[in-house]
Amino acid sequence: MKKKEFKAESKKLMDLMINSIYTNKEIFLREIISNASDAIDKLYYNSLTNTSIKINHKNLEINIKIDKDHKTLTISDNGIGMSKEELESNLGTIAKSGSLSFKEENEKKKDIDIIGQFGVGFYSSFMVSDKVEVISRSYGSDEAYIWTSEGIDGYTIEKTSKDTYGTDVILHIKDNCEEYEYEKYLDSYEIQSLIKKYSDYITYPIKMEVEHSHLKPKDNENDKDEYETVKEIETINSLIPIWKRDKKKIKEEEYNTFYSDKFNDYEKPLKYVHTSVEGLVSYNSILYIPSHASFDYYSKDFEKGLQLYSNGVLIMEKCSDLLPDYFSFIKGVVDSPDLSLNISRETLQQSKTLKTIASNIEKKIKSTLEEMINKDREKYEEFYKAFGMQLKFGIYNNFGIDKEKLQDLLLFYSSNKKKLITLKEYIKDIKNEQNSIYYACGETIDKIDMLPQVESVKEKGYDILYLTEYVDEFALKTIMNYDNKNFLNVCTDTINLDSDEEKEAIKNANIECKEIFDLMKSSIDNVKEVRFTNKLKKHPVCLTSEGDISIEMEKVINSMPTDEKIKASTILEINVNHPIAEKIKKLYKENKDELKKYSKILYSQARLIEGLSIENPTEISSLICDYLSK
Ligand code: ADP
Repeated sequence: MKKKEFKAESKKLMDLMINSIYTNKEIFLREIISNASDAIDKLYYNSLTNTSIKINHKNLEINIKIDKDHKTLTISDNGIGMSKEELESNLGTIAKSGSLSFKEENEKKKDIDIIGQFGVGFYSSFMVSDKVEVISRSYGSDEAYIWTSEGIDGYTIEKTSKDTYGTDVILHIKDNCEEYEYEKYLDSYEIQSLIKKYSDYITYPIKMEVEHSHLKPKDNENDKDEYETVKEIETINSLIPIWKRDKKKIKEEEYNTFYSDKFNDYEKPLKYVHTSVEGLVSYNSILYIPSHASFDYYSKDFEKGLQLYSNGVLIMEKCSDLLPDYFSFIKGVVDSPDLSLNISRETLQQSKTLKTIASNIEKKIKSTLEEMINKDREKYEEFYKAFGMQLKFGIYNNFGIDKEKLQDLLLFYSSNKKKLITLKEYIKDIKNEQNSIYYACGETIDKIDMLPQVESVKEKGYDILYLTEYVDEFALKTIMNYDNKNFLNVCTDTINLDSDEEKEAIKNANIECKEIFDLMKSSIDNVKEVRFTNKLKKHPVCLTSEGDISIEMEKVINSMPTDEKIKASTILEINVNHPIAEKIKKLYKENKDELKKYSKILYSQARLIEGLSIENPTEISSLICDYLSK
């Protein structure tokens, strides 16, 4: 019989499993049972739409058998089974390729991390077994095959026989050694408690032979007490789906295990909400907020939705109508006895019951997030880091139709408080005379903090929100007004915090120097105006924008893959109190050519400060070099 090699990456993972020092080896059982349950799900699910599949739904089950003599633990299911090809492709290669790349990126971390965070499915059986056999017969086929592996060396697949469809996974448990007592996995009591601990929520019965000691019936009153052992097949799991159980009796660990198993995320969720509603519409639901965005979350491939059940029976894997786009990150299950089993996708969309549930769920998510803002800010910030972007898209999408629902869930960095705050918190500490909410945009908090325009507004004691994400400004522009205050980009020309005298003085200085500025403007292509300003403290120049399109928006829109390019209308402002102001006046009198060169350099500097590139870098750099070598 020819031994086949595992695919390279499977080999690595298997090696990791076999040599694992992971303390939680016991999770292998959860993984194998979960695969068995998935296989039954698949068969059951297919039988709903395919009338040629004739199964008795009541007989779907998982069986566990311990054979102490042969030192095996067998997990059997009557699910969909695997063909020869499926055995080959499913067990010869690792399914969750993500876990391996994760491992490689984090080579220095201990193996605990990947096992804990991703789970590794089938291969985890090698943590406790020195040989694994999988006997499987695909539903509808008469052929059965046995897949055998003793680890890293490879595996074989041979024809065998099996009476019924489904799969038996036979684990040959390792011998005890100094470091670990493997043989406990041949102890019935241990296995029962592992099933209770990790797999109680599985919706099919997990059956196994259990020994009970009974007092023997006595023939005679005076006989001594004698016990007899009776073996019985029992269902170990409680079979009531977790969402239908009493909240008070469910441990956090159970919610988390259910989550990681159901949604393939081995990082704990940030939060879960379990609700039971009874009334006009009744339903149970468990909603989870993941602690991080899945790798495809912000991609086109992502599909939102909640698992939908009707009285404990799965009717839809991802019901997208239950979640608005802006809460698409939520994972969870909904079960309602008011939904019919045979509901089609189209009728479901029109179902009033579903709409009511969806609207309740939306409110629940919102109130949960609000509660986190107020009571557990740290956790909310973690959430916001992962999904804040989605909320901002939610505001901006559909012309702002949902902005009112979402605006209080936003956080922005505050220049005064030096941490993230809500708009409500900004308003709470706003200065009396302040009619606007100030903000500034840039790549990072540090870079924004150094913007010349920011410096002067901050100096006057006003709080500024720093926007570092490209959707931020679009979101604020969509909100337009918050608590009767508009939003003002401190880098636009409309902001003016000067006193009347200051305004007058700068106006006069600009009138006086009009000709100078005209000349300067003519030597720079792209500015609408050149003028003095008194709002800069140390910096010689800055670039401000005028009108609806800010410089930041120009950057964002132009980086998009469309042909439509836009240009913010910009103004070069020169610090009237800086020595450069006098130098300009002097040059205008003495050397106009030199002033033109100066203008180009000053304009380039202003662009750099704004995070824009220079349009003619070679020209500017040779100009600067000319001056350096003088
Ligand atoms: P995952 O379950 O995350 O996909 P596993 O490594 O645990 O990864 O399993 C790999 C694949 O093998 C599964 O996706 C499934 O297709 C198949 N498989 C495993 N166990 C069974 C089983 N008991 N019955 C049918 N197919 C199974």
